Amino acid sequence: MAEEANKQPEQKPAAQPADDMPDWSAYRGVLVYIEHRDGVAKSVSWQLLGQGKKLADKLEVDLMALVIGDNVKHLAEEAIAYGANRVFLFDAKELKSYRTRPYSRASMKVIHEIKPEIVLFGATATGRDLAGAIATHLPTGLTADTTELDVEPHPSRLLLASRPAFSEKMMATILCKQYRPQMATARAGVFEALPRDPNRQGEIVQFEFAMNESEIAAKVLDFIQDQSKINIEEAEIIVAGGRGLGGPEPFKMLKELADELGGVVGASRAAVDAGWIKHEHQVGQTGYTVRPKLYFAIGISGAVQHLVGMQNSGIIVAINRDPDAPIFKAAHYGIVGDLFQIVPAITEEVRKRRG
Ligand code: FAD
Repeated sequence: MAEEANKQPEQKPAAQPADDMPDWSAYRGVLVYIEHRDGVAKSVSWQLLGQGKKLADKLEVDLMALVIGDNVKHLAEEAIAYGANRVFLFDAKELKSYRTRPYSRASMKVIHEIKPEIVLFGATATGRDLAGAIATHLPTGLTADTTELDVEPHPSRLLLASRPAFSEKMMATILCKQYRPQMATARAGVFEALPRDPNRQGEIVQFEFAMNESEIAAKVLDFIQDQSKINIEEAEIIVAGGRGLGGPEPFKMLKELADELGGVVGASRAAVDAGWIKHEHQVGQTGYTVRPKLYFAIGISGAVQHLVGMQNSGIIVAINRDPDAPIFKAAHYGIVGDLFQIVPAITEEVRKRRG
């Protein structure tokens, strides 16, 4: 169903001759699933539209979006503002909360009727569930958790879906030659959203949702938010600490700064592996990929596996006592010195300025 190939830097798989594959000319366009919670979109949706636009432009096709929910027309309009030419909208009370069966049924209706050649989802809990359910029913290939997405131009039009493989030691590019659509989930924070343009024009196509509540086995009784869990992928400010902190206790100092700035605490793998902080805080290749407006790297050396998870941050501030630490090459601002003196001083200054 899907083929895996080692990926050499700068060497994409060669274009396949068209007669190597079935005739997929009925399938055209790139479709992005717009994930939301209670009508508030996940930022990965807009990031995927940004990358989807690049793929659609290369293939010379429409960029399309799929919005499913209750009272979510505003998301269809937002999808156009973020680059979609056409949006397919299911708006029904049965679709208020995500449930696999009705959402996959709605998605498959659009896929059957519109026949996109590529469908993209965020690699979130919901995106993974939905994409998996759809891929099973259609059936087609699904590349999970991608960090790079590209396409070969006509005639092969293959999606080049790349992700870390073999214990994250190398990148693999996965192709789906024999089935359509080609589907992938992609990590949040990897791709860049287009600037929001409310004047952008597009078409919204409303679909009827033809399922009764009685046909849906799963019932959502209540949502109980886990207050202890952080959402590092959506955070605009991250104060991250590494092995230089020397233990779990100094993370309290980082939390104080994060609280003052309205951010969350992040960590390197060394700190997580040492048991100083939970994995949900880990940034990097085997942790989360983040794209905050402001990222503090404190007592973090800047190993490549950490950098891949945070190098797209808006502003990076590094604090390290080693002036030759690689993190300074990625940082916009660098402070050489002892973190135990510098961090409390910054927190104090922020407090003063906030009054
Ligand atoms: P170190 O490299 O030990 O750096 C500590 C830094 O703290 C040093 O630069 C030191 O100068 C500084 N320091 C010490 N004391 C002070 C002080 N008092 N004041 C100021 N500075 C101080 N790593 C990740 O982070 N995320 C990942 O997802 C990830 N995935 C990986 C996947 C694989 C397959 C592999 C092989 C590795 C992965 N790693 C990952 C590990 C990565 O290679 C590094 O080992 C790790 O990032 C190092 O963490 P660190 O920077 O906190 O520690």
